[in-house]
Amino acid sequence: MKTSEEMPMRSIARRGIMLVISSPSGAGKSTIARTLLESDSQFSLSVSVTTRKRRGSEIDGVHYHFISPAEFDRLRKDDALLEWAEVHGNLYGTPREPAEEAMRQGRDMLFDIDWQGAHQLQEKAKDDIVSVFILPPTMAELKQRLLRRAEDSTDTIAKRLKNSKTEIERWPDYDYVVVNEDLDSAFTAIRAIVAAERLRRVRRPGLADFTAQLLSEDV
Ligand code: 5GP
Repeated sequence: MKTSEEMPMRSIARRGIMLVISSPSGAGKSTIARTLLESDSQFSLSVSVTTRKRRGSEIDGVHYHFISPAEFDRLRKDDALLEWAEVHGNLYGTPREPAEEAMRQGRDMLFDIDWQGAHQLQEKAKDDIVSVFILPPTMAELKQRLLRRAEDSTDTIAKRLKNSKTEIERWPDYDYVVVNEDLDSAFTAIRAIVAAERLRRVRRPGLADFTAQLLSEDV
């Protein structure tokens, strides 16, 4: 029999995390999401469908699948959306199949969705959801960030600012709340949340085998 020193490192099977990040527009959620996806290969992004017009910098199929209201309606009727909501006058939804496939494979998935979507996912997949709400440090800073982005019309910015207070009121629905004072600290907080959530006992069915093996080893 091999001693434990001679055994290769064993990985412990775990279920994937469904990480939901929400915030009012302009609080920095998209940058945090992008940084997480670039730095952590275990995560993939759930690419939503939306009826909103594409912004100049956005790529169809990467940032969103841009579809017509009729197509959206069809997906909804076919039960192809895990959740959907109307946000700032447009329809947004999470395609069911990629998310379910990621969970089957034990991969982590990031959902950049609003509080209505977060609520629906929490109802459907309570054990797999980790939810994080990002807050701006001040309302003035939120406005500045929306203006700096300069990809939306003045009307759209005004509408988003007005809606942001209703969104901020949803903070108690989330597992974690991070104030995005600066990107580095906010991102460090998100990484810590992810690291701890991956270690949760209930999310790691492989622990039973791992500990059984440990207990069977002679020392
Ligand atoms: P934006 O138009 O700025 O890309 O997104 C507007 C809001 O819609 C953001 O709060 C974003 O998180 C949310 N959103 C994006 N995709 C989805 C989705 O699939 N479902 C829900 N419920 N909200 C979404």
